[in-house]
Amino acid sequence: MPNESDAFARALALLKQYFGYASFRPAQEPVVRSLLDGRDTVAIMPTGAGKSICFQVPALLLSGVTLVISPLISLMKDQCDALRDAGVPATFINSTLSSAEWSARMQAIAAGDVKLVYVAPERLDTNAFEGLWSRVPISMVAVDEAHCLSQWGHDFRPSYQAIAPFIARLPRRPIVSAFTATATPEVRDDIVRLLSLDAPAVHVSGFDRPNLYFEVRRGENKRNFIKNYIKRHNDEAGIIYAATRKQVDTLYNVLTKAHITAGRYHAGLTDAERAKAQDDFLYDNLQVIVATNAFGMGIDKSNVRYVIHANMPKNLESYYQEAGRAGRDGEPGACILLYAPGDVRTQRFRIDVSTDDDARKRIETAKLQRMVDYCHTPECLRSFILHYFGSRTEDATCGNCSNCTAGATDVDVTIDAQKVFSCVYRMRERYGITLVAQVLKGSSDQRVKTLHLDELSTYGLMKRRTLEDIKLMIQRFVATDYLAVGSGEYPILHLRPAAYDVLRGKATVIQHILPEKKEAAPASPNQSLFEHLRALRKSLAQKHHIAPFMIFSDKTLRDMCALAPHTEAEFLEVSGVGQTKLEKYGAAFLKCIAEHR
Ligand code: ADP
Ligand code: ZN
Repeated sequence: MPNESDAFARALALLKQYFGYASFRPAQEPVVRSLLDGRDTVAIMPTGAGKSICFQVPALLLSGVTLVISPLISLMKDQCDALRDAGVPATFINSTLSSAEWSARMQAIAAGDVKLVYVAPERLDTNAFEGLWSRVPISMVAVDEAHCLSQWGHDFRPSYQAIAPFIARLPRRPIVSAFTATATPEVRDDIVRLLSLDAPAVHVSGFDRPNLYFEVRRGENKRNFIKNYIKRHNDEAGIIYAATRKQVDTLYNVLTKAHITAGRYHAGLTDAERAKAQDDFLYDNLQVIVATNAFGMGIDKSNVRYVIHANMPKNLESYYQEAGRAGRDGEPGACILLYAPGDVRTQRFRIDVSTDDDARKRIETAKLQRMVDYCHTPECLRSFILHYFGSRTEDATCGNCSNCTAGATDVDVTIDAQKVFSCVYRMRERYGITLVAQVLKGSSDQRVKTLHLDELSTYGLMKRRTLEDIKLMIQRFVATDYLAVGSGEYPILHLRPAAYDVLRGKATVIQHILPEKKEAAPASPNQSLFEHLRALRKSLAQKHHIAPFMIFSDKTLRDMCALAPHTEAEFLEVSGVGQTKLEKYGAAFLKCIAEHR
């Protein structure tokens, strides 16, 4: 390869020509550079950061073939269709091919007609496949979803362990690159070790997704909220996650009765039903999909505008991954979590039955508690998430979450805090939230009486408030680390060091408290042109048998609205329009824009 800066300039030209983007994103550039340098590379980037382009563009520059190893057989066809639609010679090899298709593809690869070959790890040790590589050199192996290598990851795949031996058997060692969105150090170390990477460059990009709006709602009528939200956003695609199959079915019925074009997805359906629901959602035939967490691994649909969790997930890793399926195109996406105390019980129960290993249970319970804290923190939701994942944030407020948007005010809650903390103290840190709240409320509940808790001086200190209010207040103190919930068998409340300072009158407690109900519906200008372009995209997609977002992303359509190009040259200026797309779709879109003028 020519010197690095030449190679990078060529990479930029290819990025524009095939993908229509004028520059690499800040997180992509170092990854592309180290691959162009010929170094083994690990890239850890959040969903939607644009991992695939990091290996696709270098693949176009390298002399031989790039092998992309991916666990997602169901997506390979879509990924290759999208690449070919952009003019990139790509193909895939997996168990869905007939033997005729298989040999046709092997021939095309042998003839040097293909730059990118997507392959399932199970195919690697097939004889015919191995024989091929003595004739066609592999320049790079790109391991997608590389966390599947690690037992610490959440999607361990034994078949991934065949990758390193496969690479070792190749006549010439290719560049090896690995991509994942999972950031924990254990997973990262496993990737480096299990792929036998050679002095790899490891790039970890920030986990912030500034285009995502985060919101937590408590005490909401979930069904009504979801129904109304979908109706208010009736030109947008969304995912609704629920905790159980039964809840998915119920919500699905509620929505279809309300004339919403919804699909559903969970492990209780047949493979065919699931595949159909997924396709219909991908192809914009369904507006929303109601699903358990079985849905979504590798869903590349870039124009999901909102993800609503009807139930709280078991930890923030799951939540950020699922919510992160909104806004992959960089356009605004909303991530709304509807919290109810029952969700905590469901998840506690699941942890209980999931394992006999007490250490594991404690870890899971502690993670669950952080999830509950997220639902109660009065602080910035985004900072909360980023801190959880170990990144530091410069600003305490992001301006794009329900705790940062206007309406919240700083309230001095020192007196309330003293009442709550002294009650916990007097109850000798032996009981959970409900009982503490009952004592503060002055409840005549039988348990309070039996345990003689009605004799405490803190009994009835907050009798004017509702029990729910008191519980919410306690949860906030937990979320802000004045109190902690034990991760043992019973969720027992105890005092954290900061609480003692408050009890001794040495510190005040200020909380950023917001009114409970708010609206969140950003309106966009140019809506009618956007709708026309969207309809055009859908009809073209049907004609070409690909998903609409593969033709152009929502972001590209928005950019088209903003630029309103007259000529082909102007059309090429639109972000996401490359040479092939211009030739294929330019005329149709230019005509639509002209008519709209
Ligand atoms: P990931 O695999 O990391 O989740 P994708 O590869 O699906 O992310 O990319 C997310 C979106 O970002 C896609 O719509 C992609 O076309 C877009 N994208 C990628 N790179 C760029 C870039 N340099 N400029 C603008 N958009 C980009
Ligand atoms: Zn915020």
